[in-house]
Amino acid sequence: MDEELLVLRRKGMRLTPQRQAIYHYLKNTKSHPTAEEIFAALHPRFPGLSRGTVYNTLNMLVQEGLVRELRVDDTASRYDADTSQHHHATCQKCGRVTDYFGPSLDSLLREAESETGYRLESAELYFEGLCPACQASNNVAP
Ligand code: ZN
Ligand code: MN
Repeated sequence: MDEELLVLRRKGMRLTPQRQAIYHYLKNTKSHPTAEEIFAALHPRFPGLSRGTVYNTLNMLVQEGLVRELRVDDTASRYDADTSQHHHATCQKCGRVTDYFGPSLDSLLREAESETGYRLESAELYFEGLCPACQASNNVAP
């Protein structure tokens, strides 16, 4: 079992093999998959897996702070088990989402706090454009 899940077990949460597999899959991919993509990847190994279980498990993991929910996509949330501070670039053509470990936004956050009076918890950047593969295919003459 992934170490991070032991924290949840100690809190008394039920960690079925399916739930463990969902977290494990997310931890071992850089693709920032949607719930549907996670379901499609795990269903062959867990024929009894339902979409509901995938959604419930993702919600639980987000709530417990083990997974980040990314709203880079209008149609579906994407998920990331890397909770370290980083930003994301999304390809407008193929939808690929890539990590960008750029500068921390802490000083900007403090500035925003003093200007708005909010107590702010987090900030991140979403970039949009064309990924390297789509740039290459754009350059090919039709
Ligand atoms: Zn692309
Ligand atoms: Mn990421």
